[in-house]
Amino acid sequence: MIVNQETWTPERVDQLKIYFEAGLSCRDIAVNIGVSRNAVIGKLSRLNLTRTTPDERRARRKKATAHAAQRATAKQQLRLLQAAYEPERDDAPIVSVNSCSLFELSEQRCRWPISSPGADDFCFCGNTPLGGMPYCSGHYRLAYQAGSRQRAIRG
Ligand SMILES: [Zn+2]
Repeated sequence: MIVNQETWTPERVDQLKIYFEAGLSCRDIAVNIGVSRNAVIGKLSRLNLTRTTPDERRARRKKATAHAAQRATAKQQLRLLQAAYEPERDDAPIVSVNSCSLFELSEQRCRWPISSPGADDFCFCGNTPLGGMPYCSGHYRLAYQAGSRQRAIRG
């Protein structure tokens, strides 16, 4: 059996670099190459291959994760903005969950009439109105559309 007296053959150095890049511990590299752990550590320092400490790696990973989170948040914010500025679909149903009678109407309730006056089920929407408006967002939209249509007919 020929014993190579030279610890660091070019092949072993290559292996060392590969294992190092793969993130193996010095002990694992030593076992894989078949040299002592001290030999690995010594060779790594001679090759100027310094490994970041687990803390540094964690910090770097944390930074990367935070950065990704920031990007995601920016994307989400953009989506929210787009949704806010996107015109609501005309056929979006308006759900009046708090429908109320004429006597229950107040500043805080949408006064859009549901059904027709005199009908048994006549009531008002009762949803929370838009600030300063008599109607909730859905009914404000309806009122606005009706108005613009009328203007269009008149014009
Ligand atoms: Zn309403």
